[in-house]
Amino acid sequence: MQRLRDELGTKFCRRCDYCQPCPQEIPIATVMVVNTVLKRMPLERLLTGMFADAVGKGANCTECGDCEERCPYHLPIREMIVEQVQRFRAAKRQYEKWTSS
Ligand code: SF4
Ligand code: SF4
Repeated sequence: MQRLRDELGTKFCRRCDYCQPCPQEIPIATVMVVNTVLKRMPLERLLTGMFADAVGKGANCTECGDCEERCPYHLPIREMIVEQVQRFRAAKRQYEKWTSS
């Protein structure tokens, strides 16, 4: 338990959705778990469908900051969304490299 607590720290999404609504209709709580989902699910299942759509929407963030004002955990949502989208794209590039060789 302590190891998990140390790994998580305090900068993680609790999926409460208090940050909604996002004017860009970004499913913030879904985008926020990219790192966790990438560790637990086969990548080929994530590259299309609901999860890929959510990440695609994440790339439309205009950084208006509305969500951050509403997050009770004061998460730097804008910064975290950029990180998660980049993480997903890097994993996708890696997967495409593996499967093309
Ligand atoms: S900062 Fe991005 S994610 Fe947050 S409400 Fe604005 S557009 Fe949506
Ligand atoms: S309000 Fe904060 S903790 Fe809750 S879902 Fe949104 S980003 Fe995650």
